[in-house]
Amino acid sequence: RTVYVNGDYLPESEGRVSIFDRGFLFADGVYEVTTVLDGKLVDFDGHAARLERSLRELDMPMPMTRDALLEVHHRLVAENDIDEGLVYLQVTRGAADRDFAYPAEETEQTVVLFTQAKPGLAKAPEKGLSVDLQPDLRWGRRDIKTVQLLYPSMAKMAAKRAGHDDAWMHEPGGTITEGTSNNAYIVKGNTIVTRQLGNEILHGITRAAVLRLAREAQMKVEERAFTVEEAQSADEAFVTSASTFVMPVTSIGGKAVGDGQPGRIAGRLREIYLDEARAKAL
Ligand code: PLP
Repeated sequence: RTVYVNGDYLPESEGRVSIFDRGFLFADGVYEVTTVLDGKLVDFDGHAARLERSLRELDMPMPMTRDALLEVHHRLVAENDIDEGLVYLQVTRGAADRDFAYPAEETEQTVVLFTQAKPGLAKAPEKGLSVDLQPDLRWGRRDIKTVQLLYPSMAKMAAKRAGHDDAWMHEPGGTITEGTSNNAYIVKGNTIVTRQLGNEILHGITRAAVLRLAREAQMKVEERAFTVEEAQSADEAFVTSASTFVMPVTSIGGKAVGDGQPGRIAGRLREIYLDEARAKAL
């Protein structure tokens, strides 16, 4: 594989980052994952816009223009011959003497991109996900897509050890925030319910597209907090993320959702999302 590191295209074995990189020492960095379908990027502009926002929230500049970034994505997809897969991008504040205070502004940021091939990514899921429930113990700025992913990783492992596929995280009082790496939804009757935007969840690029498409298809959408009890008595549930699109959830905290089968609305949203994603990919 060819990877991109600070302006160079290199074989992956030659990609190197300093041990003093603040991404490594402080998780002082942000990332994006853009999906590739038919060799093209899904919603690149959405991911670029969120990257700009994450960086701004952390007082970091964009390391290159949006056009230059698109060119790096395209070159890696081409060189690595990716038909279905993803492009991972990480930007950190760079390498400097270890200090909690940010280094001088002229410190060169670290920019790394690599691809992962995922053949069959867009195949219809054979079954729904079983999600466990875990307390949400992450920091209070989950809207910034930082590389501090240890807690979601711990929550996912706890879920896997208990025999589930993933976890939905909840706050004191029982309201659900989101999945470990996806946004969470329930369906009651014909109404789709998902947590409103705020600092408590990541503002999913797939979430924005799916909610827009649902409204365009005359489905009812409520953006509000919902509880574990509400989720467990919902008719359907699903999650969204760039690399899984729309995935049905058929069990929450050990309770079957509806009839325990992937839901009709989730299936329809997956179809219309994928149709548009392919049509608009660049
Ligand atoms: N929520 C969290 C915590 C995530 O890590 C992710 C994606 O990685 C998402 C939601 C979904 O966001 P997107 O649709 O932009 O992939």
